[in-house]
Amino acid sequence: MYTRVDAEAVTRLAEIVGSANVLTAGEAMAAYTHDETPMLTGQPEVVVKAGSRDEIVAILRYANERRIPVTPRAGGQGLSGGAVPVVGGIVLSVERMNRILEIDRENLMVTVEPGVITGDLHRAVEAEGLFYPPDPASLDSCCIGGNVAEGAGGPRAVKYGTTKDYVTGLEVVLPSGELLTLGGKLVKDVSGYNLVQLMIGSEGTLGVITKIVLRLLPLPKASIDLLVPYDSLEQAADTVSAIIAECIIPTTIEFMTRDTVKACENLMGKEVPFSDATAKLLIQLTGQRQEEVEADMDRVGELCLDHGAIDVLVASDRATSDRLWEARRLIIEALKHESPINHMEDVSVPRANIPPLIRGVDEIGKRIGIRALCFGHAGDGNVHVNLLKCDLDEAVYEERLEQARGAIYDLTLSLGGTITGEHGIGVTRKGYLPQALGDVQVALMRRIKDAFDPHHILNPGKIFMKRRAAPCPARCLGMSQ
Ligand SMILES: Cc1cc2nc3c(=O)[nH]c(=O)nc-3n(C[C@H](O)[C@H](O)[C@H](O)COP(=O)(O)OP(=O)(O)OC[C@H]3O[C@@H](n4cnc5c(N)ncnc54)[C@H](O)[C@@H]3O)c2cc1C
Repeated sequence: MYTRVDAEAVTRLAEIVGSANVLTAGEAMAAYTHDETPMLTGQPEVVVKAGSRDEIVAILRYANERRIPVTPRAGGQGLSGGAVPVVGGIVLSVERMNRILEIDRENLMVTVEPGVITGDLHRAVEAEGLFYPPDPASLDSCCIGGNVAEGAGGPRAVKYGTTKDYVTGLEVVLPSGELLTLGGKLVKDVSGYNLVQLMIGSEGTLGVITKIVLRLLPLPKASIDLLVPYDSLEQAADTVSAIIAECIIPTTIEFMTRDTVKACENLMGKEVPFSDATAKLLIQLTGQRQEEVEADMDRVGELCLDHGAIDVLVASDRATSDRLWEARRLIIEALKHESPINHMEDVSVPRANIPPLIRGVDEIGKRIGIRALCFGHAGDGNVHVNLLKCDLDEAVYEERLEQARGAIYDLTLSLGGTITGEHGIGVTRKGYLPQALGDVQVALMRRIKDAFDPHHILNPGKIFMKRRAAPCPARCLGMSQ
């Protein structure tokens, strides 16, 4: 179905971007064979680092004519394999397109290229007293283009929402090479279907994003953090509901279970406060005025104690706050320390259903014989279930992993949830999409894909299985599309 990248293609791509920006040697391309998804690689035939929108127009026009597959890539930090070239072809990297084009104070908007590192954007706007809230934990390595294509979230989603709530305009190159300008610096815009939102979370399958306009907020001036240990998950979850019911919206409400805290202790080689607590909440309150934030803190502290908290530790300065957050920030590293191979699930349920989800995951892990550790975003119901290989034999791990994933998805859906809250479908969850959405919705999405990309050259092998299939067998972490 697809044309292989031949000498003529390499010559044409070098004419477009300059030969220094075309990689064909195995060693040079090694970094582009994977993202951060474990056990998933794909070999590109060529890597092209585009420097401008016009270059991307020319690359896609050529690839479309010759039916060469193209996999867009930004920071390569994805956790569902979206940037992995599972059918070969061209990896189209936007890493060189990393300029912040304009910070517009009058409109409170910023215009950026897709290769801007998210943390760099945060620092640039914060230097002007402005605020871009979405904060994926990978923010110092991932890019805004990847965040938009994945619809990335982060701990601050409780109060501020996710990437989708900040994108007002996009410039997109279609697989045919045609250029779309969608939205703009607009607060209101209802002209026709909302194609801006359609592009968000489209995982590089509909078009390549070349410019992004984002809404900004005033930078909060006051901030207080609370660390709250509990003897039971239910008490922690009830506290979250009580805080929200009181109409106090913290910036973040993160949770950690005892096992994840213990993993952090193992990595850090020291004890963390209340490490034997069954569950811990980390709550951050922010606002423009110190008195308001302190009033919220007093009320949240009372609610925590009313709902059975063992204690409430408060940090109002940076050093103490860093100590409270230390273990939470190290979780992913700590889990890698426990087991270098660790498959992270990303299920999301209504907030109040976090306790039955976590108890169910624990039961599934014990029944199937795989270590399952949970942490995540209690304030928005997004739970990261980590399925650790530890010392299991590879084949045994893969078999149990797929059994556990199927059971966790069944449980999540039965609790009114969804199979991914922020990491996307990509390669690793595509076998489960029909189970999650139903055949009618998947068929409609396929027709949208056909309309944008009739020859399916853009990011093939992602989101959809090639044929209808039973839930993903172990080997679907590989190549089928
Ligand atoms: C340690 C760690 C912590 C993480 N924490 C979070 C978190 O808190 N929240 C969260 O949401 N995610 C998190 N992630 C996942 C990941 O960082 C996000 O999905 C992020 O948005 C990926 O951005 P990226 O620039 O690395 O994109 P890539 O991995 O390069 O690409 C992601 C997808 O976007 C597509 N794409 C890239 N650029 C473009 C473009 N210009 N046009 C069209 N499509 C494009 C790719 O084809 C791919 O499908 C984490 C990952 C790690 C490793």
